[in-house]
Amino acid sequence: MAAGGHGWPGTGQRSVRYGGLESLTRKRVTSFLLIALGLAVAVVLVVRDGGTPSAYAHFAYAPVALAAFRFRGLGGFVTGLLGGAAVGPVAELVVSGTMLTVPAQYVSWSVRASWMAVIGVTLGHLFEHARRQAGILDWYRFTDRGTELPNLVGVRRQLALRLEEAPGVERIVVVVKITNYDHLLATFGYEGSDQVVRGLGQQLRVKLPAEAIVGRTGNDELVVVEPVGPEIATTQLPPVLRELTGSSLYGGHIHAYVETALGVMRMRADAVDSEAPFVQAAVAAARAHEEGAGVAYYEEEREQVRRDGIHLLSELPGALEREEIVLVYQPKLCLQTGRFVGVEALARWQHPVRGWLAPGAFIPLVEQTGMIGALTAHVLERAIRQTRLWHDQGLAVSVSVNISTRNLTSGSLLQHITDLLEETGLAPEALELEITETALMDVYRAHLDQLARLREQGVRVAIDDFGTGYASLAYVRDLPLDTLKLDKSFIRSAPEQRRERQILRRMIDMAKDLDLQVVGEGVEDAETLALLMELGVDQAQGYHMAYPLAADDVRPLLLQSWSGSGPAQRISPST
Ligand code: C2E
Ligand code: MG
Ligand code: MG
Repeated sequence: MAAGGHGWPGTGQRSVRYGGLESLTRKRVTSFLLIALGLAVAVVLVVRDGGTPSAYAHFAYAPVALAAFRFRGLGGFVTGLLGGAAVGPVAELVVSGTMLTVPAQYVSWSVRASWMAVIGVTLGHLFEHARRQAGILDWYRFTDRGTELPNLVGVRRQLALRLEEAPGVERIVVVVKITNYDHLLATFGYEGSDQVVRGLGQQLRVKLPAEAIVGRTGNDELVVVEPVGPEIATTQLPPVLRELTGSSLYGGHIHAYVETALGVMRMRADAVDSEAPFVQAAVAAARAHEEGAGVAYYEEEREQVRRDGIHLLSELPGALEREEIVLVYQPKLCLQTGRFVGVEALARWQHPVRGWLAPGAFIPLVEQTGMIGALTAHVLERAIRQTRLWHDQGLAVSVSVNISTRNLTSGSLLQHITDLLEETGLAPEALELEITETALMDVYRAHLDQLARLREQGVRVAIDDFGTGYASLAYVRDLPLDTLKLDKSFIRSAPEQRRERQILRRMIDMAKDLDLQVVGEGVEDAETLALLMELGVDQAQGYHMAYPLAADDVRPLLLQSWSGSGPAQRISPST
C-alpha cells in the first residue's frame, strides 16, 4: 500500500475541494502574518513587563506552534529560533553567573532560542506524523485494499465532488458483477482474486474516458460512473464493457477468465449524492445474472414488485404463527362411484392488509427460500389433523397435499410425515403428496429417496399438472408414483380438439398400463366430465363438481356424497 504516495484520495484532494491553489497561497500568507504578529506581541509584552521572570515570554510559543502546524518542522525550527532570539535577551533566565565566562543574558538568549527551535521542530514533526496517519486512515476509508481502487465510500466521495463541480449532468452507474467470482476464489484464493479484479479495474480505467469513476464496491463487484449521452447508456457502453470483461485477462501474473453481468442505472440530472443508484445498479446486475442476460437496466416498477414479494416473505413466519395461512379443500370425485373420495388441500393467506391471497401470490416466492419447509409442515399438519377428524366422523376421504422441490432436498419431510401419521393415527394410504411435473424434473433422482420411503409406508405420490412440462411417460415410469394428475390446460381443449383428445386417450391408456391412477383436474363443465369418464379417467376435480371450500363447508358435500344423495347424478353425461 502506498499510503503516502497515493494520488487518490490523498489530502491534496481537499485543497481542490476547498478552493485550489489560490486559496492555499492565501492561507500561507495569512499564517505568515499571524506568526509575525504573534512574535511581535510576545516581544512587546515581555519588554513592557520588564523581562524575566515575565510569564509573557510563553506567548512566543503560540506563533512557533502555528508555524510548525502550517510550515512543518522547518517552519517550527525557524520560528523557534526567531522567537528565542527576540525574547531571549530581555526575558533572561535566572542562571548562576559564577561558572560562566559569557554574560548571563547571552546564555539566556541562546538557551531560549535553541529550546524554542527544538520545540518548533518537534511540533512540526508531530503535526506531520498526525497528518500522515490521518492520510492512512482516509486511504482505508476510501479505498478497497485488495485492488487499491476507490471503495463505495470513495466512489461516492468522487461523485459528490463531480456533482458539486458539474451539476445537471446526466450520469449512469454501471455495476459490473463478476459472476464467476466463486470460481476465481476457489482457484486463486482471496489475494489472487483481488489481483484479477484489480487487473479488470485497470483495464476499465484505460478503456474508459478520464472522467469516468471506476471503483470496487464488493468482492465480486466493480462500479463505473460516467456522464453520458442517452445513446451511450443504451447502446455503446454495455457492449464495450461486455467485450472487455468477457475476455481472458491477466491480473498481475494470474491468467484468468472473467464472466460478468452488468447492471445499469441512469441517474437523474438533478441527482444528489446517495447510495440509491449504486444499490439499484447492483440489483439490476443481480437480475442480469439471474436471467442469464449480459445487461439489465434498473426498472423501478419491476423492483417494486420484487420488494413487495420480499416484504411479503418477511411477514410469512408471523403469518404462520398467527394462523393466517389457512387451508381450503377441493373435493375429488370418483368417476366409478360418483362419490367424493378425496380432497386436495390448498393454501390461502388471510392477510390482514392485502386480504385473501391465492397461493400463486406467495408460494412461488416462498419456494425460493428455506421457509417452504415451515409452510409445508404447517399445511401437512392442518390437513392431516382435519382428515383424521373426517375419518372419525365416518368420512373416509384421502387428502392430497402439494409439496415443493425444496421439501425433497431438505431431508426432513420423511420424518415429519412419519411423526404426524403416528401421532394422529391416520392411515398412510389416506395421504397423497402432489409434486408438479416441472418440480419433479428439477430434482435429482437421489432426492426422490424420501418419496420412495414414504411410499413403502403406504403414502401415495402424485405427479401434478402433468402435461405442462416435458416429462415423457417413459421418464415417469421410473419415478416412485401412484397417481398422474392431468393438467387443466390439457383437459380443457380436449372436448373440442380431436387431436388433443387422441393424445389424451393415448396418455391415459399408457398411464393405466403403468398402474397409475389418473385424475383429471380443472373440470369446469359436464362435457369435459363426460369425456373424462369415456376416456377411463379414475377421478375428476374441478369447479363443475366443487370449488375449494373451508373444511366446515366441505363436510356437508362429503356427507351427501357418502349418503348417496351427492353428485352421482352430475357425472351423468346428460347433465
Ligand atoms: P394445483 O395443485 O394444481 O391445484 C389446483 C388449482 O387449480 C387450485 O388453484 C384450484 O383452485 C384450481 N382449480 C380447481 N378446479 C379448477 C377449475 O375447474 N378451473 C380452474 N380454472 N381452476 C381450478 P389454487 O388454489 O390457486 O392453487 C394454485 C397452485 O398453488 C396449486 O396448483 C399448487 O401447485 C399450489 N399450491 C396451493 N397450495 C399449496 C401448498 O400448500 N403448498 C404448495 N407447495 N403449493 C400449493
Ligand atoms: Mg395440486
Ligand atoms: Mg394441478
